[in-house]
Amino acid sequence: MKMDKLRNALLLALAALSLLATTRLSYSQGNFEGVELSITLVAGNVYMVQRPGGGGNIGVQVGPDGILLVDSLFAPLADKLVAAVAQVSDEKIRFLVNTHIHIDHVGGNENLAEMGVMIFAHDNTRLRFFEERSRFPRAGGSFVPQQPAAARPLITFNDTMSFHLNGEEVRAFLAPPAHTDGDVFVYFPKSDVLHLGDVYRTTSYPIIDLYNGGTLRGTIAAIDQAIELAGPDTKVIPGHGLEVVGRDELVEFRDMILDIQGQVLVMIREGKKLDEVMEAQPSAAYDAQWTDDPGWGPEDFIPLVYYQLGGTGRLADR
Ligand SMILES: [Zn+2]
Repeated sequence: MKMDKLRNALLLALAALSLLATTRLSYSQGNFEGVELSITLVAGNVYMVQRPGGGGNIGVQVGPDGILLVDSLFAPLADKLVAAVAQVSDEKIRFLVNTHIHIDHVGGNENLAEMGVMIFAHDNTRLRFFEERSRFPRAGGSFVPQQPAAARPLITFNDTMSFHLNGEEVRAFLAPPAHTDGDVFVYFPKSDVLHLGDVYRTTSYPIIDLYNGGTLRGTIAAIDQAIELAGPDTKVIPGHGLEVVGRDELVEFRDMILDIQGQVLVMIREGKKLDEVMEAQPSAAYDAQWTDDPGWGPEDFIPLVYYQLGGTGRLADR
């Protein structure tokens, strides 16, 4: 009888462990069987590698001085990323800039580092590589295990840096704390292309990752900065979403956030609790456009806005 109990407990523990392993695998590796990456010209020297159906968009600057990548997608797609880049250039991939810590943007780091690619990121992003496990904002917060040491950026900066490469001065610089506190924008001035990482996505409301230093105020400031930098012909690569956009779409995105923020602020001043704010649906006019990403809808974004603006009421049943 006692042995049976022990056996059952052991089986239960094993089942739990394997479930944990599967969950981890699904967050860290995903299912990439049969996934094909595409590469398309954005403008000038800059291409974009995409995973149809979504995934962190990769910026690729090519030319005689070698290739610079912005972000590295997931680890299991690293070979496909390299193959996609080889479709447009025979040059060596020399440099990689990580726009932030998330696994769908840094997962390929280790493989690229093994190929001799030099990896750059903001100081704060490198610090996050040392955390025992990395937290994601989606689904109330999920975890991925720490990246291998070889994936860590070798060169970091605290404000801005330039690559003098392929006939243009590529500028990578820290944005205000928006999606995370290490968000880097990369601007290719001659090609007139701006990569905004996950601060801007065409698929959802802004994902403000509180676990990694993101803020609402910083999101608005960062988008403002991008709007100021962008000219009439600037092509903007979003962190997610299959379309390249321009300055007008950034203005639209910023105004949407400002409108929702304004409505929530008024309700907070009226003393409304979160459940009342949710009931009022301040994002109703935008939900059709900004909820393509099933992992991040108004039920995630509105409470975040509420708390970021100082609201304190609790949603009754959450
Ligand atoms: Zn992200």
